[in-house]
Amino acid sequence: MKQLLKCTCFVIISLAVLFVSISPIPVNAHPLVPIIFTQPPIEEGSTTTVSMKIIFDDITEPFIITVDDGYSRPALKELIAIKQQYGESFKCLLFPYGLALKDNEDLFQQLIKEGCELHNHTYTHMYFRHKTAQQQEQEIMLDDAEIEKVYKMAGQQRPYTKFFRPPGGIYDQTTLQLCIKHGYKIMLWNVITEPNGKNLSVGSRADLIRRAPKGSIILLHSKVSDMDALKIVLPGLIKRYGTQWH
Ligand SMILES: [Zn+2]
Repeated sequence: MKQLLKCTCFVIISLAVLFVSISPIPVNAHPLVPIIFTQPPIEEGSTTTVSMKIIFDDITEPFIITVDDGYSRPALKELIAIKQQYGESFKCLLFPYGLALKDNEDLFQQLIKEGCELHNHTYTHMYFRHKTAQQQEQEIMLDDAEIEKVYKMAGQQRPYTKFFRPPGGIYDQTTLQLCIKHGYKIMLWNVITEPNGKNLSVGSRADLIRRAPKGSIILLHSKVSDMDALKIVLPGLIKRYGTQWH
């Protein structure tokens, strides 16, 4: 009897392993909900607290390309060329941190003129883990001022909606309070080309972008490998979604 049980267990485990190994690769994406949000303050007597009720924005784009950091000039130049080629066919939001933006103001001005939007990613790329309100506010507002400056230099109007993307996706209640105070919405992502920080090939990065479900916010970094991947997949994405832009 014992032997039979052992044998049955072995068969079940083998079947499970076989099933896992032959199942299609799952789409590497998190649920779409918690990607853009803000939380409204609730007035309680004289103190203001943040409600735990999260208000989600309607994502009306079939996909949004976001590019973080902004340190690589070759990558930024490649993105300018891509934007020149595809124009308004895709929505592109840039999240440079202040120091990188300061170093590459000329290229970011061009990107704005090509239709990209600049948003906030802190000034020094600080991770908001155990950071005081003062530290967080300074990081957000220094980058805000740098973004404002680059828009002025480019002679362009800054977008009405301001997004903040915390480095590493790390934020806390203090961050939420500060975003409300300064009129920011937090934008995270559901697809990333470097899952768990892995340095993937251009082909693998392209696959991750290609498999992004509709409504995705795709996180790329300002690296040539990500720009190369974007160049590969953009024609297909644009063909798939046509002109459903808002
Ligand atoms: Zn970053």
